[in-house]
Amino acid sequence: MIQLYVPLNFMGFVYREIKQAVADLEAMFRLLAQDPEIEDRPDAKPLAVEGGTVRFENVSFAYDPDRPILKDVSFEVPAGRTVAIVGPSGAGKSTVSRLLFRFYDIQSGRITIDGQDIRDVTQDSLREAIGMVPQDTVLFNDTVRYNIRYGRWDATDDEVEQAARLAQIDGFIRQMPKGYDTEVGERGLKLSGGEKQRVAIARTILKGPPLLILDEATSALDSATEKDIQDALDRVASGRTTIVIAHRLSTIVAADEILVLEAGRIAERGSHQELLAQGGLYAALWNRQREADEARETLARVEDDD
Ligand code: ADP
Ligand code: MG
Repeated sequence: MIQLYVPLNFMGFVYREIKQAVADLEAMFRLLAQDPEIEDRPDAKPLAVEGGTVRFENVSFAYDPDRPILKDVSFEVPAGRTVAIVGPSGAGKSTVSRLLFRFYDIQSGRITIDGQDIRDVTQDSLREAIGMVPQDTVLFNDTVRYNIRYGRWDATDDEVEQAARLAQIDGFIRQMPKGYDTEVGERGLKLSGGEKQRVAIARTILKGPPLLILDEATSALDSATEKDIQDALDRVASGRTTIVIAHRLSTIVAADEILVLEAGRIAERGSHQELLAQGGLYAALWNRQREADEARETLARVEDDD
């Protein structure tokens, strides 16, 4: 079934007209919709990253004063470790990543990187230190090479291609007549969500930041693609302080700590095994996904038999 699905899907995205340009623009505006009031302190220093330990200490935050979003959130990501954040849509998961970038200032508490309050360092140095693989990647109307090199402008062609190989997108790019010079976006090739995400992973590998935020794709990718993307993400996260916002719980079983965010509060925390044993919200989410996966597999088998 998968063998049939991949080529059909490939043909589909080459010829289908999708309103990708509009979607990209929306994503771009969302990215730009940060608080314009955030300014560097007059005495702001560049962030000095040692190992890259991230701490949220009693963080409370609201976009609008009358609607609190994060409520007294505390956690630590030790240098080089991985913390996963899971929870229902709207719980505040992506907000955590926006706050780490300091797109907004918090109402109370403290966010530190290696002990430095992120309000005391320059925004440039802060954003330089953090790599983000977002759910919806914005690609420029330019070549694949340009889109990857955006991670680090002085990278050589070899480095760009090496990053693409690690992100498992190199083979796909080479299959195109113009290879790395293929134009993507509005005027060129439309990439699927998974392909765009792999371009973003390549970009991030090239940037090589000490801190990493991964907002995993929600869309139901076929399992071969999902495994490729997961391998690529694991590779980029290795040795870096990583926050994973996970939609598929199967991808975060090995996280050092899992936080279950519910309506802006940490409702549960622990390792995968601890949370399963607790039999709470996480265990319920896990069981629901297992059932959905099994139903999908059964359906795939039935289709195979046709
Ligand atoms: P999650 O990633 O867990 O789905 P988010 O962190 O994106 O949730 O959003 C948490 C809540 O904050 C949601 O109710 C959302 O509607 C609200 N929210 C997100 N961004 C903004 C914004 N720019 N202005 C006002 N409210 C927002
Ligand atoms: Mg989100």
